[in-house]
Amino acid sequence: MEKTFLMIKPDGVQRNLIGTIVERLENKGFKIAGAKLMHVSEELAKTHYQEHADKPFFGELVDFITSGPVFAMVLEGENVIDTARLVVGSTNPQQAAPGTIRGDFGLTVGKNIIHGSDSKESAEREISLFFNDSEVLDYNLSNTDWIY
Ligand code: ADP
Repeated sequence: MEKTFLMIKPDGVQRNLIGTIVERLENKGFKIAGAKLMHVSEELAKTHYQEHADKPFFGELVDFITSGPVFAMVLEGENVIDTARLVVGSTNPQQAAPGTIRGDFGLTVGKNIIHGSDSKESAEREISLFFNDSEVLDYNLSNTDWIY
């Protein structure tokens, strides 16, 4: 099953949106394979955002993502990489559609609440940057024989 990496950024954590966002992702049907609250080091931030290293906003991006805890997740599901990007919404929250996470909660492009991998290659790279193998769990959600 396909996996992707999502990360609630420091603005989402500071605004107490972890529960609301995780609820949306679970309600959509994605399975949480891994999750943790963590600080992003400067080194990890620079590696994660390396494709933007020559952009004028790179310094701001690194400063912001390291400014407070983030909530990192591995989600699993059919076509989850592209579908999670739709749930996340467009990069600029001021243009993101209502009903998307960024459209409903984001303020500015620099404070857009959540990150989601944009391709299979990025998802694999980002999952391995943020999670050890032992932190990504393989389990079955359909073990429902205890529900009565
Ligand atoms: P996405 O997160 O939607 O995949 P990008 O990979 O293009 O978007 O950019 C990574 C992050 O960099 C964005 O989520 C956003 O927070 C930040 N960013 C992008 N463009 C700008 C910009 N023009 N000014 C400030 N921050 C930006």
